[in-house]
Amino acid sequence: METPVADYLEQVLDACATDDGEVASYIPELAAADPNRLAVAVCVGGGRVYAAGDAGVRFSIQSISKPFVYALALRDHGIAFMEERIGVEPSGDPFNEISLEEDSGRPRNPMINIGAIATHAWVGEEDISAGERFERVRAGLSAFAGRELVVDEAVHTSELDTAHRNLALAHLVRSRDIFTLDPHDVVDGYTRQCSLLVDVRDLAIMAMTLGSSGHNPVTGEQVVTEEICRQVLSVMATCGMYDAAGDWMTGVGIPAKSGVSGGILGALPGQAGIGAFSPRLDSFGNSTRGVRVCERLSHDMGLHLLAQPPMAVDAVRTAGVIDHDGGEWYRAVLQGGLHFASGERMLAQLADVEPGDMPVSLDVSRVASMNDVGRRMLGEVVRRLMAEGHRVVLVDPRGVTADLDTGDDAEPEVVEHSPHADA
Ligand code: GLU
Repeated sequence: METPVADYLEQVLDACATDDGEVASYIPELAAADPNRLAVAVCVGGGRVYAAGDAGVRFSIQSISKPFVYALALRDHGIAFMEERIGVEPSGDPFNEISLEEDSGRPRNPMINIGAIATHAWVGEEDISAGERFERVRAGLSAFAGRELVVDEAVHTSELDTAHRNLALAHLVRSRDIFTLDPHDVVDGYTRQCSLLVDVRDLAIMAMTLGSSGHNPVTGEQVVTEEICRQVLSVMATCGMYDAAGDWMTGVGIPAKSGVSGGILGALPGQAGIGAFSPRLDSFGNSTRGVRVCERLSHDMGLHLLAQPPMAVDAVRTAGVIDHDGGEWYRAVLQGGLHFASGERMLAQLADVEPGDMPVSLDVSRVASMNDVGRRMLGEVVRRLMAEGHRVVLVDPRGVTADLDTGDDAEPEVVEHSPHADA
C-alpha cells in the first residue's frame, strides 16, 4: 500500500494555490524569485519525510535561521548568559525595527533583526575570527538539517550591498555593549547566515530536530539539549511570526518561524516538523500561501499545540494479584509514555497494593518513553513498595530504569525476562 500522506499534501497545495501577496523586493536578489513556487514537507518522529510541490527548489533561509543560531549561542554560552543580553518578549514591532529596551539596552528577542544580529555575535567564543564564527553557524545549521548547507553567494552579496538598516541596528546594539565585535563583521556573518540555501525537506527536518528534544530524527545526532529546544520553541511560539504572532498562535498553534524569501518552519514537539515555501508575502512579511498551508495542516491533522487529545493509552496495561510459584504476587505491566498524567494513573492504580511482603513485579518492557517526572514517579513507586516490605522485581530488558532513583535503602531486582509464565 502507498501511504496517503503524500497525496494529502498535494491536495493541500492545490487548495492553497491562490496568488495574493508580493515577493520581497528590498533585497534585490529575492525580487527575482518565481512567485508561483509552492512546496511543503512534513517530517515525523521516525525521520520519515513527506513532500509535495516544488520540494526540490532551494531558497535562502533568511529569518528562519534565527531560532537555530539562537540555539547555537545558547549551546555555547547558556540560557542565563544569553537572557542577560537578549530578551524573550514579543516586540509587537516590525522585524527590522530600530529599538532596544530602554534600561537594559537588550534587544527584545532573538527573532527580530536587532536581536538576531546580536545573537550571531554570540556563537562561539569572542576571540574566534569572523570566518570561524560563520563556519560554526553553517556547521550547526547543517547538523539540524542533516546535510551540509551552503551559502547562495548572489543573495549574500545582494543583501550585504543593501544592508544599511541592519548595519544601523548592529551599531546601535554594539553601542550598548551587548557584544564587543566589529558590527560590520557581525552583519556580514548574519547576512551569510540568512543566505544559506535550504529546501522544504531541510526545514521539516530542522523543525523536527527542535521538536525531538534536539535529536535529529534522520541522522540520529543529538544537536542541542532538550532544555535549549524548550527555550527556542518558546521564543518561536511568542515571537516567531513577526508581529502576527498572536493571530498565528490562535489560528495555527504551532511554534514557527518565517523568512522573507517565503519559507515557513513549524515545529510541533513530539509530533511533526513542517517546512513550507512560497515567495509571495503578506503585509507582515509571512508567505501568504505558506500561512494557508500551515493553517490547513494544523486544522486537518489536529496539530494545534493547545488542543492536544488526552493520552492515547493507559500507563497500566494490567495490574493485579496472580498465582506464581505456589504463592501470590502483585504484577503490574506498564506501557506507553510515562510522564505526569500517565504516571499519576500508575500511582493511583498501585495504591491498591497493601503493605506486606507479597512480591511485586513491575514490567516496564512496554514503556516507550519516560520523561524526568515519569522517572521520578516510577522511582518513588519502587521506593515506597520496598519501604512497605515488598520484594520488587523490575522486568526491564532494555535497561530503561538504569538510573532510577529509588532512595538509599534498597535496590530493586532487575531482570530481563518476566518471571511469570504467561508473560
Ligand atoms: N536577511 C533578512 C534581513 O535581515 C532577513 C529578514 C527576514 O527574513 O525576516 O533583512
